[in-house]
Formats: sequence, structure tokens, C-alpha cells
Amino acid sequence: MRTIVILGATGSVGQSTLDLVARNRDRFEVMALTAHRDVAGLAAAARRVGARRAVIADPAAYRALQDALSGSGIEAAAGDAAIIEAAASGADWTMAAIVGFAGLRPAMKALEQGGTLALANKEALVSAGEIMTRAAQAGGAKILPVDSEHNAIFQCFDEARPGAVRRVTLTASGGPFRRATLEEMRTATPAAAIAHPNWSMGAKISVDSATLMNKGLELIEAFHLFPLAADAFDVVVHPQSVVHSLVEYVDGSVLAQLGAPDMRIPIAHTLAWPERMETPCERLDLVKVGALDFEAPDLERFPALGLAREALRAGGAKPAVLSAANEVAVASFLDNGIGFLDIAAIAREILESFDPPAPVSLDDVLEVDRQARERAQRAVERVLV
Ligand code: NDP
Repeated sequence: MRTIVILGATGSVGQSTLDLVARNRDRFEVMALTAHRDVAGLAAAARRVGARRAVIADPAAYRALQDALSGSGIEAAAGDAAIIEAAASGADWTMAAIVGFAGLRPAMKALEQGGTLALANKEALVSAGEIMTRAAQAGGAKILPVDSEHNAIFQCFDEARPGAVRRVTLTASGGPFRRATLEEMRTATPAAAIAHPNWSMGAKISVDSATLMNKGLELIEAFHLFPLAADAFDVVVHPQSVVHSLVEYVDGSVLAQLGAPDMRIPIAHTLAWPERMETPCERLDLVKVGALDFEAPDLERFPALGLAREALRAGGAKPAVLSAANEVAVASFLDNGIGFLDIAAIAREILESFDPPAPVSLDDVLEVDRQARERAQRAVERVLV
């Protein structure tokens, strides 16, 4: 039996994880599940997998959670401190699937306990890359990437011979606006932006996929996960989302991982690692897929990718600044505030105008994030006037 914790259990990645766990109740003991406000979803998930504890971040939802769990024997808890406590359960395996910067502190706490951190929450690693990888080393924890691209790279990358790798190429579907004009994107609605052609995901990452900021954040994430220079990572658009990423070796060999676009595949890889487990996922039928297409990303229509590349090259606090500004801008766009093209414009403005010293501690990152958010919020308000 492996003990597990799922942070962000009610989200898209959380639900995919629960599906695998529910099919393998004899292999996993669920110590805790967490959510933000979705009491009904959290209680249903906890009952489904027989979790010991269910934790809701919003303290006002505590009574409702208690009621929803009554008679189940599952302990209810609420508040950010209780989320951190869940992350500190000392589980063998913890899924970090809280969306955005809010996932950083719980992910750090889990790393300090040792064990395996299955990392979906890319914003945490983007904002606090060195600090997280140092915490993993100090705590004896292993970070396994859940993001399909990084999981693919992990499966192809010879960790014992990093010097033999020349280049890593991340694939991008291109999102719903791959063929859209700038004029069409200017008036794009949140509903159009979250309608991803291949993947079913939470709202924030869906918008990031539409701007290609997601791929930019993934470049930074990859830099922290695999020991190569920043410019050794690049991006190719691959609309079928069948090849999940590629690793090129010095001899010209290129290894890629392929599979149906279903997050349960990379999640299962991290759940069973270093073994493998069965999944109910659709099998890849290359004849049915027919053709695999590849094209260069268009940085004029998708400037967010170029911004992330700049932040990666600059290093220090810049990735945290970019991620925070993007989070604020995406939240406003989803709330029918700013327009789609304003997202990258605001991210650029904050990235270029705010240059705090490189963070050396978690507190430093929290402060950079706070200040970047304040600036981004002011920029959003200026656009809205
Ligand atoms: P969702 O929006 O679907 O789910 C987010 C989860 O985080 C929910 O459980 C939500 O709870 C919880 N949450 C949100 N805010 C807070 C908070 N302040 N405190 C505590 N919990 C919070 O996101 P996704 O599952 O799509 O994505 C999760 C992460 O995984 C993101 O970082 C994303 O980039 C990454 N990722 C996602 C992929 C996907 O296919 N979806 C693929 C690769 C990476 P509640 O439901 O109560 O709001």
C-alpha cells in the first residue's frame, strides 16, 4: 500500500488522479484530499476513495464540509494552515495539482517531508525553481513531472548521461487560436479561449494554452527539471498532441514519447513509478491519427511565448514576476474584464518594468509575487477604465 495525498483533488488533474486511485483501491491509501471551495466535489471524492481527511481552503466552508461528510468517518478540516498540514502528512506520494501560485507553499511543505512529489502545478516551479529543487534535495524528495510534456521528457531523458543530450523540444498543440488572426483574438471571449481542441483542462491553463503562455511557463519548468542550458529547450507546434515531447542526443538520435491526449497516462506514470500500471485510456492508433504535423510557433501572434523565453534567460525574480502578472491578467480576462490580447500586453509591461532582486528564500518569492500582483492589478484597472 502506498500512502497518498492529492492537493487540488476537485480540479481537472485532481479528478484524473482520483479516477486512477478509485480503480486501484487496494494499492493506495488516501491520507488527505484538498480543495479550495468545492465542498460537494471534495466530499464526493473523499467518500469515493475512502480518504482519511478532507481539507477545504476556504474557512467559511468548514460547516458545510462537516455536514457533507457526516456519517462517513472522514475527518473535515479547513483553512490554509490545514492545507499545509495535509501536505505535511508524510505520504509516500503527493499530487501537487492546486492551480497557480497558491500551490507553492503546500508543494514546498510536501517536498520537505521527502517522498515523491508528482508536480502538475507548474506555476510553483516557475516562480521558485531553485528554491524548490533545493528543498527536494534537502528533504530527499523526488519531483516527478506530471505535465504531459515534461513527463514525456522524463521518460526519454537519460538522467545518468545528461551530457549526451543536445536539445529538448516541447510540443504545443497551438491551442484554439492556432489559425486565428490578431483581429479575431482581440475580440475572443473566455468561452472561446477555454475550448481547447485536444485536452480537457481547468480554466486558467486553458487560457494559458490559448495565449501560448502555458508553453512559455513549460520552458521555464523544463529548465528546472532537466540539467541543460536555457537555450537547449525549444518549442514546436504539433496540433494533434500525440507526440508529447522529444529529446535529441548528440549522435542525432531523437527519442519521443507518444500517447493519446489523456492526463491519466502521465499521472499513472508518476503513480506507479518506477513500475508501470494499467490505465483505461484510449490506445494510440497511428493509422487512425494518419498524419503528424509540426510547425514553428508564431511569436507575433503569440508574444507570451517570447516573454517567457526572456524571463527564462534573465532568471532571478523574472519568472516569478511574469507568472504572477499572467495570473492576475488571466483572472481578469476570465471575469470578462480585459481582452484576450491584453493578457500578454500586461504580462510584458510588468515583466519589463519590475526588476526585484533574485529571491533566495520562499519568503522572498512570496514578496515578489505580492508586488508583481499589485502592479498587474493596477495595469488591469487602467485597461478597464
Ligand atoms: P483546476 O482549476 O481544474 O483545479 C484547481 C484545483 O486547485 C482545484 O481542486 C481547486 O479547488 C484548487 N484550488 C484553487 N485555488 C486554490 C487555493 N487558493 N487554495 C487551495 N486550493 C485551490 O486546475 P487544473 O487541474 O487544470 O490544473 C492544476 C495545475 O496543474 C495547474 O497548475 C496546471 O497548470 C497544471 N496542469 C494541468 C493540466 C490539465 O490537464 N488540467 C495539465 C498539466 C498541468 P476548487 O475546485 O475547490 O476550486
